[in-house]
Amino acid sequence: MKVMKMQILKTAVIYCDVCGWRKEYPPEDIAHHFNDDNPVPYFCENCSRSPIIVFMYEGDKLKFRQHIPNAVSGVEPKEIEFETLEELLADEYVSRFSSDDNFSFWTLGGNCLIAVYGDYEKWWVAGYIDHPKLLDLPMFNPPSERILNGKA
Ligand SMILES: [Zn+2]
Repeated sequence: MKVMKMQILKTAVIYCDVCGWRKEYPPEDIAHHFNDDNPVPYFCENCSRSPIIVFMYEGDKLKFRQHIPNAVSGVEPKEIEFETLEELLADEYVSRFSSDDNFSFWTLGGNCLIAVYGDYEKWWVAGYIDHPKLLDLPMFNPPSERILNGKA
């Protein structure tokens, strides 16, 4: 592991592209888990494949881009830069989805941030995340018959 000068390490996230398993390490644990004597020793604890390791430094930002339905034209999607999930979900635009009385929880479907209402009675794609696996959110997983009937 090479840490560039002047950068303060915030966290390391390892995640599995295959099954969605993820684990987050606080900075004080990183040197212990990732060092030259121990080069990338990790395997996904769920499916045993090689996970992806991402180091996040102080000031690193993730990006959210608003979903504009196809029927709407001439609207520039809103973009939000954020460091933490809490920060994104508290954003004025994003929190409009969760202020609905029937709002249940946030999920991720691929790189889509999806607001779920009721028990998957309804859902809306709020937008897209550039590195979705860095966010600790459940996967979008509606009962299968609703996938056939639902609209995202
Ligand atoms: Zn896996």
